[in-house]
Amino acid sequence: MTGPALRLEGVTRRFAGHAALADLTLDIERGEFIALLGPSGCGKTTALNCLAGLLPLSEGRIWLDDRRLDTLPPERRGFGMVFQNYALFPHLSVRGNIAFGLRMRRLPRAEIRQRTDEALRLVRLEEHAAKLPGQLSGGQQQRVAIARAVVVSPSLVLMDEPLSNLDAKLRLEMRTEIRRLHQRLGLTTVYVTHDQEEALSLADRLVVLRAGQVQQIGSPEELHDRPANPHVADFMGFRNLLRTTAETVDGDRVGFRIEGVPCTGSAVGDVRPGAGVVVAVRPENLVPAEDGLPCVVDVAEYQGRDMAAEALTGDGLRLHLRTTARLAPGDPLTVAMRNALVYPAEGRD
Ligand code: ATP
Repeated sequence: MTGPALRLEGVTRRFAGHAALADLTLDIERGEFIALLGPSGCGKTTALNCLAGLLPLSEGRIWLDDRRLDTLPPERRGFGMVFQNYALFPHLSVRGNIAFGLRMRRLPRAEIRQRTDEALRLVRLEEHAAKLPGQLSGGQQQRVAIARAVVVSPSLVLMDEPLSNLDAKLRLEMRTEIRRLHQRLGLTTVYVTHDQEEALSLADRLVVLRAGQVQQIGSPEELHDRPANPHVADFMGFRNLLRTTAETVDGDRVGFRIEGVPCTGSAVGDVRPGAGVVVAVRPENLVPAEDGLPCVVDVAEYQGRDMAAEALTGDGLRLHLRTTARLAPGDPLTVAMRNALVYPAEGRD
């Protein structure tokens, strides 16, 4: 099936006149996995709650195929939800939790049993079916929550930071589990996270929010390789954001200087000679070299295959590096810049 399953048109939610989410317009294809990504307070949960029907919209509309949804109460939207805190019924067994939505729909007993068994198998919890949630690990509880959400074959699954209560190892395992389930069931999914790695690894498309405003909508590759502005770049791991002035512009090649050292990068947006720019560079693209920008290592952190380091230039600019070179505080260094992106400086940034 093709065509947008879900359409958000100018979805806006204000609290006391302040827009927690402003004008979100998005078409979600059937089977697509969308991640809403952004720092704390950017409006992710507000967007999810608007979709779920837990918050009325201040403006805008939501459509499922050609059915208007935003006027329906949550229980009539037919969505599955998975929350950060699992929200399982503590007095019901794993099986009881998973079967709950099917019972509410008053399905025949045999069908409830068969679909619950299938969901238990899907999240690999057959052996734990009779246990209570309190007898399960965090990862197992989250698998129950996921099974409970998908067992009703929802038209949309909403997930709000489902992995944030798990430890690092389990989080990785569950990430793979969610990906596997999505590939297997093909359920349209909207997933909220502040973790860019999680979003990049799970989603077909990402929506990056900042202060309630959409900054960029794109595939993981697009966001990773070409963030639309310095805020998205910052969020996508371009830890070095350096302010300077464009000297030359030739096509998308921009020449500029950092502390007198000539460098080049690719323009993103309208960069003009003589105008202020923000240069975004990933830590791994500031590489120790024969000549380049002189600096002195301030902090060096061993991270297995490579090192993360911070270095200070003569003018006190703090650079973030990631390199396989062994560095120690106090080491003098020159670094060359690769794959820099050059953005026009915004007025107030
Ligand atoms: P987090 O990752 O911390 O959960 P978030 O991106 O999900 O953050 P939201 O919870 O959507 O952010 O909040 C967006 C903004 O709206 C914040 O500034 C928040 O203070 C505000 N906000 C959210 N809910 C309410 C409310 N019920 N009343 C007033 N303001 C609210």
